[in-house]
Amino acid sequence: MSHSPPVRRLADWDHDRLLDLAAEYETPLYVLDPDRVAANYRRFDAAFPDAEVMYAAKAHTGRAVLSTLLDSGATIECAARGELKRAIEAGADPNTLQYTAVNPPDADLDYAVELAGDNPGLTITGGAEDTFDRLQARGYDGRVAIRINPGIGTGHHEKVATGKDAKFGIPYERVPELADDLRECFDLVGLHAHVGSGVLTDEVEDHARALGKVADLAREVGDGDLEFVDFGGGFGVPYREDEPPLDLQGVAETVRGAIGDLDATPKFEPGRYIVADAELILTTVNTVKETPEATVVGVDASLSTLIRPAMFDAYHPIRNVSAPGRDPEPVSVGGPCCTSADVFATDRPISRPEREDVLAIGNAGAYGYELANNFHSQPRPAEVAIDGDGARVVRRRETMADVTRVEADAPGAPDPEHE
Ligand code: PLP
Repeated sequence: MSHSPPVRRLADWDHDRLLDLAAEYETPLYVLDPDRVAANYRRFDAAFPDAEVMYAAKAHTGRAVLSTLLDSGATIECAARGELKRAIEAGADPNTLQYTAVNPPDADLDYAVELAGDNPGLTITGGAEDTFDRLQARGYDGRVAIRINPGIGTGHHEKVATGKDAKFGIPYERVPELADDLRECFDLVGLHAHVGSGVLTDEVEDHARALGKVADLAREVGDGDLEFVDFGGGFGVPYREDEPPLDLQGVAETVRGAIGDLDATPKFEPGRYIVADAELILTTVNTVKETPEATVVGVDASLSTLIRPAMFDAYHPIRNVSAPGRDPEPVSVGGPCCTSADVFATDRPISRPEREDVLAIGNAGAYGYELANNFHSQPRPAEVAIDGDGARVVRRRETMADVTRVEADAPGAPDPEHE
């Protein structure tokens, strides 16, 4: 049983330590707390004692995260060959991996099929009939699961409500017949659905209704002949400081009630819940500009470091760790990218930032580094993992040479000798 608090707020991080990290490793900097990753996993696992809890690697594929979770007993759900490879490099037994194929490129299917050749425990989940045809064409007859489109989507933004998006999964009504067909050619071991992401308490009823539909379908298809029914991830975390945490115990009861009796192991695959509050970004203020409309605070992190505000209008808490006691003042905080989307906050009361102050941007563990990019040819920042009183670099800061390498190495690149 885990006694870790259900949420870690930005104010709970040790500010002096954060300032030391910023000074030692420079900013922007991702700061990961693997102990918090493990605690979040243990809390989730304890709430669903009869289920298998896989971690959805897509939220954060860092090796420090994956190995922490593997050590804690989690299995890993992967959505691409890169994630499969990363999970194996972090120590996962390929026989325990589940690969959820979404419009899979040939290279990904080739990799998964080859992997399954030596590791027959690997499961491949298809969300389009084409995917099963392509598996058969590769001579694959191993373990498969069907991804269902339950026709109900939930989540914090329309771009994550996958459960009703035609892109994801086999239409609900088609599944029983497809299951019969697949049983002729494969080992059909499971059904799968992922309804949405960032679901908080007010949406749990809708989410549970969708999961109930998935369980109904499993019974129709024959749950006794299935090994598992995978109900996906989607469990939300409070991004706003005044938002209450998910009542996980209550959610588990609602979900279990909606699922009903099932003669197959339920699986869940949370991503965000496990990593979101286990990482923050440190960034340094480089500009403070007063305008008639707003006080604009410029920082060295940008949408290339954390794209969620630009992509999903996501709220991330921000704290001035250099001077948390200064009077708060409404400011806009933005980075160095030449787009008005590169804004972390607008009209947000923050302890009045001054140049050289270090700000922390919280809840950056899920889809943070994972969606980082090189816009403006910016090298991606380093990531450090705190470890007791120490810290270790788990991803080094990219260099300019990293950014230009693929161009410099290209077969048609000009010979630098003759430049
Ligand atoms: N499983 C699947 C198939 C997903 O697509 C996702 C997220 O996109 C997840 C699990 C994890 O969702 P979350 O991070 O909201 O728990």
